[in-house]
Amino acid sequence: MSKEIPYKIYLEEQEMPKEWYNVRADMKKKPAPLINPGTRQSMSVQDLEPVFCKELCEQELNNDDAFIEIPAEIREFYKMYRPSPLVRAYCLEKALGTPAHIYYKFEGNNTSGSHKLNSAIAQAYYAKKQGLKGVTTETGAGQWGTALSMACSYFDLDCQVYMVKCSYEQKPFRREVMRTYGAKVTPSPSMETEIGRKMNADFPGTTGSLGCAISEAVEAATKQEGYRYVLGSVLNQVLLHQSVIGLETKTALDKYGIKPDMIIGCAGGGSNLGGLISPFVGEKLRGEADYQIIAVEPASCPSLTRGSYVYDFCDTGRVCPLAKMYTLGSSFIPSANHAGGLRYHGMSPVISELYDQGLIEARSVEQTAVFEAAQKFARVEGILPAPESSHAIRVAIDEALKCKETGEAKTIVFGLTGTGYFDMYAYGAYNDGTMSDYIPTDEEIAASLAMVPQA
Ligand SMILES: *Cc1c(COP(=O)(O)O)cnc(C)c1O
Repeated sequence: MSKEIPYKIYLEEQEMPKEWYNVRADMKKKPAPLINPGTRQSMSVQDLEPVFCKELCEQELNNDDAFIEIPAEIREFYKMYRPSPLVRAYCLEKALGTPAHIYYKFEGNNTSGSHKLNSAIAQAYYAKKQGLKGVTTETGAGQWGTALSMACSYFDLDCQVYMVKCSYEQKPFRREVMRTYGAKVTPSPSMETEIGRKMNADFPGTTGSLGCAISEAVEAATKQEGYRYVLGSVLNQVLLHQSVIGLETKTALDKYGIKPDMIIGCAGGGSNLGGLISPFVGEKLRGEADYQIIAVEPASCPSLTRGSYVYDFCDTGRVCPLAKMYTLGSSFIPSANHAGGLRYHGMSPVISELYDQGLIEARSVEQTAVFEAAQKFARVEGILPAPESSHAIRVAIDEALKCKETGEAKTIVFGLTGTGYFDMYAYGAYNDGTMSDYIPTDEEIAASLAMVPQA
């Protein structure tokens, strides 16, 4: 008989992961390499080094080592807010009247309010170790910038954040959290970079986009001595750092002999999903176990479900390398969906390749249905979820309701990536009944895909 499952499964300090798990090592067909748009050659460590920290370049290109040690300094920091709890959603199960067993891994228990701190601290650590002065980055909704500003202040590094202008104006509180941690926050497009000045000239009054903020941050990093650029999602290294989520989840489940049937995560650039599923996908790849894995994306920005698997630019300004990924085209501007963290035109090359190989599935959901799930969850589980995370809640609830019809007691695990306290305008729109669902037309997607560079 299995032990009684507590509401929250925590791990002891000695059970916390000491190594990150690199799922690429177990993939027979590897994710496609980043390529230089000029030469069309694969990027080497030397090519990436002017932009990224050296050790992170190596992690980016490392397709062979399954385990990479987590430096002691990073593990010390993790101890401040990890392990994150794996919660049995007893109250949600009861409210739904489902025989399913639902668990969620809650990553919102830190000031930045999301899983992004797991990679921010690693990236800041390697920048410090390399003797750099600081790092630059972009932020859309603000979670990544907040996480990075916390990580930089811990290691005493300068942190320059280009924040998409509409968020800068709409989310003054996020901006102030970043400034409290010592970051310099600049609305993007700015007048501080060539790309920013060009965007402002070409599109007067533009409120910016993530792709443009990335271009500005990369330019700022390469033009200042002792600075490098860091990115909060999409890259292989970020998925590697986020594997702590999946490793902890697996250890916690194993402690109670629980085997999930289904693992669900929201997918913007794919980092939390990649981190959560990595150890489970590893078992799938090695033929040791099978799981149904579902990536959930917004219907307004459906890169997996409606995009193409091709080489594309990671940014609007086309200064970054090309990545092979499911993409809507780097010129795709998603509608003003409230889940800012999911408004990215592409998807991590690792997630894209796993999806292409049929190892994971994808679903898109509409925003009002997402907020309906968010509200239900908040009322019974006591956590106000981030709009991004609520995409996973939506599908977890849908699957639990299917179990109610079939009478199957499936075990569902989903990633609850963060809290939504800075998203109250979005909740307000939902509560007022003024929220709408915007789904791009085939023509709109075809138009931006037509601009993707030809092979
Ligand atoms: C950024 C963010 C996401 C999406 O990013 P991924 O890289 O796809 O994980 C999801 N949830 C929250 C709370 C976020 O801040």
